[in-house]
Amino acid sequence: MNHLVIDIGGTAIKSALYTPSGMLADFRETASDGREGAQALLSRLHDLIGSYAAQGFDRIGVSTAGQVDCVAGRIIFANDNIPGYTGTPLAEILTQDWQVPVDVENDVNAAALGEAYFGSARGIADFLCLTYGTGIGGAIVIDGQIYRGLHGLAGEFGHLVTHAQDGLPCTCGQTGCYEQYASAAALVRQAVRINPAWSNGRLLTEARDAAKPGVIPVLEYWAEEVACGLSSLIHCFNPSLIVLGGGILSDENIFQRILRHTLNRTMPSFARGLVIRPASLGNQAGLYGMVAIGRNTRSSGGA
Ligand SMILES: [Zn+2]
Repeated sequence: MNHLVIDIGGTAIKSALYTPSGMLADFRETASDGREGAQALLSRLHDLIGSYAAQGFDRIGVSTAGQVDCVAGRIIFANDNIPGYTGTPLAEILTQDWQVPVDVENDVNAAALGEAYFGSARGIADFLCLTYGTGIGGAIVIDGQIYRGLHGLAGEFGHLVTHAQDGLPCTCGQTGCYEQYASAAALVRQAVRINPAWSNGRLLTEARDAAKPGVIPVLEYWAEEVACGLSSLIHCFNPSLIVLGGGILSDENIFQRILRHTLNRTMPSFARGLVIRPASLGNQAGLYGMVAIGRNTRSSGGA
């Protein structure tokens, strides 16, 4: 039977059916318009799931933005990208509506599990995963499972403090957090101060390919900031593998730049045997992660 998998972000909802033959079929990306609030989002979600009903599914997996209680399938906290989403009992609502088991997981954790079972970390039991976008998401995978910590919140690497003095204010209420300097958004913020035309990652890499003056120092400064957080994590965890996700990291030159700075900042004894590689599932990582979670729950005798 098909497994319906969905990935809810602030701007887009991705969805697909994982078929018994092991394929993601009927992949779709629709606007989530999260700013319109949780009720509007739930109504869009209902229509979306309904549109897959004719093909049949016996399980729903939802990867979502926000902090998730994945035992209860409930949103513990979500920021203003989806107003009113905090507290939503997502699994309960969807189970009632569709009469199938529902798994809910945080999007960063889901993406890490996708990479663990289908992507760059396939066959690796323990690794770290970081995603560079608007902020920086992180996940710690131990023995093929997400390490969650006391409240299920472990892995918020974006809020490592990398600038103790005069740090930029962060969405978490603190200052000097890693993601204010090393996220893809931080790179673009720096870039437009040098040249207003460099207003997204693609335009910036195009400027680099065209050897525009001023672009390399921006990339180098940012890569150093990215490396600063990564080397700290390497010294904390002594990992064998770190997977780096986010559109900007799929650029080979940028990835190599980060790798070079990171290894420069890492004690040689920690660098030995360490592998750092880009994520390989792109924007479908979260969907694959929900496939893995559903499969693991079934095989462990869960719902
Ligand atoms: Zn912060």
